[in-house]
Amino acid sequence: MKTLKFKLYQHKRNRFLKRMINASGVIYNHCIALHKRYYRMWGKHIRCAKLQAHIAKLRKRNPFWQTVGSQAVQDICQRIEKAYQLFFKHNKKGVRPPGFKKVKKYKSFTLKQAGYKFLGGNRVKIGNKIYQFWKSREIEGTVKTLTIKRTPLGELFMVVVVNAERSRGVDDGSKSEVEIKTGKIAGFDFGLKAFLTCSDGTKIDSPQFFKQSLNAITKASRQHSKKLKGSTNRDEARKNLVRKYEDISNRRRDWFWKLAHELTDEFDVLCFETLNLKGMQRLWGRKISDLAFGEFLKILEWVAKKKNKLLVFIDPWYPSSKTCSSCGHILETLDLSIRRWRCPSCQSENDRDENASLNIQRVGSSTLGVGDVRQSQTAISV
Ligand SMILES: [Zn+2]
Repeated sequence: MKTLKFKLYQHKRNRFLKRMINASGVIYNHCIALHKRYYRMWGKHIRCAKLQAHIAKLRKRNPFWQTVGSQAVQDICQRIEKAYQLFFKHNKKGVRPPGFKKVKKYKSFTLKQAGYKFLGGNRVKIGNKIYQFWKSREIEGTVKTLTIKRTPLGELFMVVVVNAERSRGVDDGSKSEVEIKTGKIAGFDFGLKAFLTCSDGTKIDSPQFFKQSLNAITKASRQHSKKLKGSTNRDEARKNLVRKYEDISNRRRDWFWKLAHELTDEFDVLCFETLNLKGMQRLWGRKISDLAFGEFLKILEWVAKKKNKLLVFIDPWYPSSKTCSSCGHILETLDLSIRRWRCPSCQSENDRDENASLNIQRVGSSTLGVGDVRQSQTAISV
């Protein structure tokens, strides 16, 4: 399964899609109301099939509801059902049942097999109207679902999920596919101080886009909260704020692409720890969202695949920070605040991040069967 995202051309016609999203929001809220009422009356959960049948009947008499395809309506019911099942299963862990949503903020609708048609080129027919999108890449494979999404700025995106056929053969990550160009292998450690520390000793600092733009955002958000609720000015201020946020994430993404290309130019094999984002968040707090490691890895994976480079992820439980990269001695504990430490066994002084990246490189290359590679300059023969 692959998810492709395309931006739709701005066009007056897009208002029909927006109307469909609004109608979906209205139907969604109606379903929630029905769920609540049913539970109050009968003390039990309304079955999904029953709800779907009821909504389908109502839809026949309501032209506004008919703007949304019948499949999208079914999808709404199924989504609510899923949310309820999640709630039944995990309510003790604090999961809440699905609730009402503001129609203005309702984001999307999803079609499965019917209600749309790709007309070739960059044209797609949704309902009975034709829309154009920025075709940034080919849509290969069988289309599973098509979702139209509305951003807070009112722009529309089309998200297509395809069942990608494995025809290229690169997918399996088989080791022989790696093109040996540089003959270099490196380990990387993500960190708070430096974004990435490479096993060759270089540190790549995060540009901290968020921090730079924090002032602009604080100002925009103050402007927003000062404006009268429901006023045009407030909506303008909201859009301004959203734009500021998007600006940051765009700049960050650009930087990620550039970095991904630099690293894959320099190395053939890149080793990382498998990210445990939840754990990192607990450990480091919310600053991690600014660093966005996960997003970077996705981009890097894509670039690496294009260039026939190999990414190796090592076991997240491997104690990369606590192990001495010189002698293999493992510390009992290592506080997050300690940046350098002396190994009690071999007396070598270890920089926390660099030491970790060396370990990651060593473990990563051992999984390749390359043996104990210490230097990133060591040639590899995969
Ligand atoms: Zn040691």
